[in-house]
Amino acid sequence: MWWPPADQLVYEPGRAPQWNPTAGGYTDPETGRLLPSWDDALDLVDADPDAQPVHVVRFGTQVDAKGILAGTKDADRCVGYITKYLTKQAADCHDVTTGRQRAHLERLWQELRHTPCSERCANWLLYGIQPKKARPGLKPGNCKNKVHKRETLGIGGRRVLISRQWSGKTLADHRADRREWVKALLGVTTDADTAPAGGEHRHAWELAKPTDPDVPPLGHRVLRAISERIQWRAQLDAARRAAVPPDVPATDCMTIESGEA
Ligand SMILES: [Zn+2]
Repeated sequence: MWWPPADQLVYEPGRAPQWNPTAGGYTDPETGRLLPSWDDALDLVDADPDAQPVHVVRFGTQVDAKGILAGTKDADRCVGYITKYLTKQAADCHDVTTGRQRAHLERLWQELRHTPCSERCANWLLYGIQPKKARPGLKPGNCKNKVHKRETLGIGGRRVLISRQWSGKTLADHRADRREWVKALLGVTTDADTAPAGGEHRHAWELAKPTDPDVPPLGHRVLRAISERIQWRAQLDAARRAAVPPDVPATDCMTIESGEA
């Protein structure tokens, strides 16, 4: 990854560059000089013949990338396996039990508090660079992304990546595809909340409050949601058994980020 260098702190969080509306960006707190923009900083990396990548990732021997084709014999087993790892809490893998482990976690956390996590991380200001799409109010050392948090330290948060370059689809496209697939399988031709002819809406939606007299207790609502899911699943399974499996192109390209997989 070719990012600007981030190994030498230029500023401290308490003495960080400030937004200057006149200059239209962040400036040095003492000299008032405008810091280089993200694009300028990348151009400097390009122009430097001795530049080194900030991160290098290589495919190791343990990577075994496979596509999953709907309707094949391994598909269900594979989906179950992936789901198991996706729902596992990364933070629960290792409990901190000794003083030495606590000290190690503390050191790592202190280090990652000031490490930029992405192109838009406020921490770039500490290295004398304006992050991409810089705006007023950035607080270096206080980026809210999961990677900086003690519980999820070093883990960016995304465990499944869908490559849009591969499928040419966004997550919304995938959701719409799944919806269409289920509707086709169940033989549903309308949407429940579609307005009937005449332009009159069948439902009016409003946010329920826990204090509303007709809102049942949380436990009831959770159980009802689970029961509804089980019924949907049963209906879907019955429809799948009754129907010849439709031809669904396998377009999702998934990468599992897990050292244990
Ligand atoms: Zn960050």
